Amino acid sequence: MAQIGFIGLGTMGGPMAANLVRGGHSVTGFDVNEKAVAKHSENGGKVASSSAEVAKSAELIFTMLPNSEHVEAALFGVDGAVGTLPNGSIIVEMSTINPLKTDAIRKKLLDKKILMIDAPIGRTSVEAAQGKSLIMVGGEPADISKVMPVLKLLGDTIIDCGGPGNGSRMKIVNNYMTTSLNVLTAEVLTLAESIGLGESTCLEVLNGTPAGRGHLSTTYPVKVLKGDISPAFMIDLALKDLGIGLDLAKNVGAPSDIGESARESYLQARNEGRGHQDWTALLLSLKDRANKNRI
Ligand code: NAD
Repeated sequence: MAQIGFIGLGTMGGPMAANLVRGGHSVTGFDVNEKAVAKHSENGGKVASSSAEVAKSAELIFTMLPNSEHVEAALFGVDGAVGTLPNGSIIVEMSTINPLKTDAIRKKLLDKKILMIDAPIGRTSVEAAQGKSLIMVGGEPADISKVMPVLKLLGDTIIDCGGPGNGSRMKIVNNYMTTSLNVLTAEVLTLAESIGLGESTCLEVLNGTPAGRGHLSTTYPVKVLKGDISPAFMIDLALKDLGIGLDLAKNVGAPSDIGESARESYLQARNEGRGHQDWTALLLSLKDRANKNRI
């Protein structure tokens, strides 16, 4: 049984701390919200009146807070955890924050001989409550091994992202994709309804094609990521189809912000001479642009 501290007992942190209690650990929790603290106590956790008090008794501390300023306040602020944490303790920072802040916080902690792992969560509070989160871990391998048994109480998929800060970086990449896809999904279902298609038809069709199954699990692995950009479906045709969709959307007044922006990327790729390449060669076009921007 480990002495664990848990700071931030909200939508995610509350059920996660409860899972650690269920796993047989002594979990001292703190949250600025009294109701969250009371719930932790009901769940069998111990409670503290500040982050500093959490740290006194803990060998391992979890933080699950809204943003980096809250993490900084909980660790380095008045009554912050760092003042009372023994050397060699480990902080597992699970909030979704800017990776540059993750790096800076880690450095400040290391200066005080406190170790840190960044371990943000994929999936939602539903899976967190079931102990079935996907956890993206960044840190030194030896430190990750030490916390792995405890992380396994929180997630069923734990992925080492390859070094300190990379869990945080991976999480932002993941959420860039899911948050943008959310808008595209809403855009497409709005267009479908506006032109008279039923919702169940849409779900059936879209879930059976790369549209809903996702390029990462269909087209990319067999084409561009294998180095093959011979056209299974060429960029010129993709541009044509997207153009028809955008015309339809315009006719019925359906919002098409993501579609318009996508057309810009296809146009640029075609202008680079990629019109007869596979549509996944769009990746190469964007990587070229990134390389030019870096120069
Ligand atoms: P939340 O707002 O429900 O919980 C955050 C908790 O932190 C609150 O209870 C708040 O009172 C507490 N808090 C704020 N400042 C504090 C401080 N200085 N000291 C102690 N407690 C403090 O948010 P959440 O949904 O639990 O999300 C937490 C983090 O996890 C966020 O970074 C979020 O982006 C990320 N995340 C959320 C989900 C989700 O489905 N909700 C999924 C994955 C990741």
